[in-house]
Amino acid sequence: MNRDPKTTRILLLDDDPWMLKLLGHFLAQLGYIQVFGYESGPQALQQVAHWSSHTDVIFLDINMPGMDGIEFIRELVKRGFCGGVVLVSGENDRTLESVKKLIESQKLNSLGHLAKPVQPEELSRLLRQTPTDHRKPAGRVTAADFTGEDLRAALVAGELVNYYQPKVALTSAELVGVESLVRWQHPRAGLIFPDQFIALAEDYGLIRTLTRTVLAAAMRQAKLWRLAGHDIPVAINVSMDDVTALDFPDTVAMLAASNGIDPARITLEVTEGKLMKRLSAALDVLTRLRLKRFRLAIDDFGTGHSSLALLRDLPFDELKVDRGFVHGAATDPRLRALCNASLRLAHQLRLDVVGEGIEDRADWEYLQKQGCDAGQGYFIARPMQAGEVLGWKAAWETQQRNALAIQA
Ligand code: C2E
Ligand code: CA
Ligand code: CA
Repeated sequence: MNRDPKTTRILLLDDDPWMLKLLGHFLAQLGYIQVFGYESGPQALQQVAHWSSHTDVIFLDINMPGMDGIEFIRELVKRGFCGGVVLVSGENDRTLESVKKLIESQKLNSLGHLAKPVQPEELSRLLRQTPTDHRKPAGRVTAADFTGEDLRAALVAGELVNYYQPKVALTSAELVGVESLVRWQHPRAGLIFPDQFIALAEDYGLIRTLTRTVLAAAMRQAKLWRLAGHDIPVAINVSMDDVTALDFPDTVAMLAASNGIDPARITLEVTEGKLMKRLSAALDVLTRLRLKRFRLAIDDFGTGHSSLALLRDLPFDELKVDRGFVHGAATDPRLRALCNASLRLAHQLRLDVVGEGIEDRADWEYLQKQGCDAGQGYFIARPMQAGEVLGWKAAWETQQRNALAIQA
C-alpha cells in the first residue's frame, strides 16, 4: 500500500459534516493532502468505483442513516476494494466488534479502529503502523497457492509434520497433555498453517489419509516420550469424514495398540459445528471410540450451533471453550458471561473443561478462579516441534518451582 502521505488517497465517510472537517484537518496536519469527504455511502461508492483500485484508505463511520457502515462494506467487497478500512465509531459502540468480525470474514484489509472523539495522536499512530497488504501478508502462503495434487504429493513426501502445544492444569500448572497441530513444511514456501490446507484436504478426499498420518506420527511420538520416561497424553484433531467412516475406530485402536499406547491417553478432538451435519453416523463412530476407552473432546465449544443437543447425544469427556470466549474474559462482561456459562455447563455434565487461547496472566487467573480444569495458549506455550517438548517441560517445571519458592 501507498505510504507516502502526499500521494495516499483517503476517503472519509461520515454523515456528520463537522466530523469530516475535523478528520480532514487532522489528516492535513499529518501531510495527507488527497483527502475526500462524503456524507453518504452511495456518493462515496461512486468515487470508489471511479478511482477503482486507487483508494488507499477509507475511514468509515459505522453508524449512518440510509446506507449504514455494514451495507457499505458489503458493497466495497462486491467492488473488489483492496485498500484499507479504518472504522470510526462512538466510544461505546457495541456494534464495533461485529463489524470488525465482518471485515475479517470478508478478507477486507482492516487497519483498525478510531474512537470518537478522534485524537490526532491516535490517527497518526494508526496510519504509521499500517501494514503493507493484509489480503496476502508477505511470506504467508494461502490456500489459493496450492492444489489438491500438491497436497497429495506432500503427504507422500512426508512434508506434513505435527507440532505440539502443551495443555496444563490451571491449579497445579502441571502438564496434562499436548495437542497435535499439523503443519505443512513446504520445501519452498516454508511453514504452512492448517487453516490453509485442511479444507483443501477435505474437498480433495485426502483428509482421511492426512488424519492417519497425523495420528500415526502422534502415537509414535507419545511412545518415544514414554521411552524417555515421560507419560504425555496426546490430543489429535479429527475431521468429520473421519468420525463418519465406520472403520475409523479400528484404525485408531490398531495404531494405539501397535505403539503400546493406552487409549485413555489419547484424546480425539472434534469440532461441534461440523458434527451436527452428520450426527447419526458420527454417533456410531464416536460411541465405539468411547467404548474402546479413547477420550473424546468437543472442540471450539461455543462457536457452532446446536451445542446442547450434541452434548446430550454424544459421549464426550472434555469440552474445549473456544478462544473467542477466553482471551479477554476477565475484562469483557459479555465474554465473561459466555465463558462462565460454558464452564458451568461442562462441570454439571461432569466434563473436563479446557480453556483455549490463554494469552496473558489475566486470562489464566480468571479461568483458574472460575474453576476451569486446564488451559492452553500462547501465555503457556506456542505450538512447538516434537523435539522441543521435553526441554520446554523441564523449563516450565523449574519456573513453577521457583515461583512457589518465592511465594513461600
Ligand atoms: P484448534 O484445534 O482450535 O487449535 C488451536 C489453534 O489455536 C491452533 O492454530 C493454535 O496454534 C492456536 N492457538 C493456540 N494458542 C493460542 C493463543 O493463545 N492465541 C491464539 N490466538 N491462538 C492460539 P493452528 O495450529 O493454526 O490450527 C488451526 C486449526 O486447524 C485447529 O484449530 C484445528 O481445528 C485444525 N487442525 C490442526 N491440526 C489438524 C489436524 O491434524 N487435523 C485436522 N482435521 N485439523 C487440524
Ligand atoms: Ca483442537
Ligand atoms: Ca479449538
